[in-house]
Amino acid sequence: MGVVRDVFIGLSENKTLNDASKQMGLRFGAKKVVGGTGIEDTLECISSINDQGMSVTFDNLGEFISDKNEATKEKNNILKMIERVQEEGLTAYPSVKLSQIGLHIDEEFCYNNIKEILTVAKKTNMFVNLDMENFVSKAPTLVILDRLLQEFDNVGTVIQAYYYDAKKDVRKYKDLQVRLVKGAYKEPSTLAYQNKADIDQSFFEIIKSHLLEGNGFTSIATHDHNIIEKTIRFAESENISTDQYEFQMLYGFRKDYQEELVERGYNMCVYVPFGTDWYAYFMRRLAERPQNLNLVVKSVTTN
Ligand code: FAD
Repeated sequence: MGVVRDVFIGLSENKTLNDASKQMGLRFGAKKVVGGTGIEDTLECISSINDQGMSVTFDNLGEFISDKNEATKEKNNILKMIERVQEEGLTAYPSVKLSQIGLHIDEEFCYNNIKEILTVAKKTNMFVNLDMENFVSKAPTLVILDRLLQEFDNVGTVIQAYYYDAKKDVRKYKDLQVRLVKGAYKEPSTLAYQNKADIDQSFFEIIKSHLLEGNGFTSIATHDHNIIEKTIRFAESENISTDQYEFQMLYGFRKDYQEELVERGYNMCVYVPFGTDWYAYFMRRLAERPQNLNLVVKSVTTN
């Protein structure tokens, strides 16, 4: 399993393949997990998800951003998407990776970019989530978040359960809208739990803590039915209303379960990545769960 994972991670980091795939359109089953390559086709995808009673958070795919021109281009694309979502009156908000808009190029430049995004979103009270990347990005992302919170109330972030200090972060941001996740990056044992049982336990602890201790809306982002059903039972036992939390899943994953949760009366938000830079995102999903290879097989056999 580790070898397969490493192969797909290796493929996701290959710049030549990333560049080539931008010219191709969505291939190898990527259509099932990427909302669209452009703004207008992605809006159609968002609209059909909204029609099924689910909200959306959209993620502008962009890899290998290494200079200010590229970062500005990505920021402008995010702004354009926000404006079109506002014009169409869709229920959707952006999830932004700060590395894409200059976090590792110039922090002040990045701060100004995200400020501009928040200002445009705020016109319709649209929320903006700061996605959390690897450990190197965590501290500077939180510094920027804390600065933004002095001026904006439409911003939140992600807390990754695999860190030993996740509970401390949850307490600090207890009144904020946050997305709780297990954590997607490879971090050392000096910083983060390594095995699934420990990560799952930490995840459920922070879910309980955020639901109970603060006033912030809780987004629980996972495909793990055990965690989801445990959360539902916990919320019921504590009389926590369903409008205080939602579940989030990636576009194209466990669609039947997404629909079932909506039918049962729970809020569901679908994370929709979009853009021509789909290749690395798609390879990472294959690395995470090699069973997703059936998306590739199906697309090859039906095309
Ligand atoms: P896993 O531990 O991968 O799976 C647990 C169990 O759930 C599996 O054993 C299986 O039984 C079941 N299962 C899982 N997937 C499927 C499937 N496709 N079909 C059927 N059964 C399945 N990470 C970050 O570090 N930063 C972020 O900003 C971030 N944002 C995210 C946003 C969203 C909306 C989501 C869903 C995830 C995000 N993640 C983020 C990724 C997250 O940290 C995990 O790496 C990822 O969700 C995989 O863990 P899991 O909780 O889904 O469960």
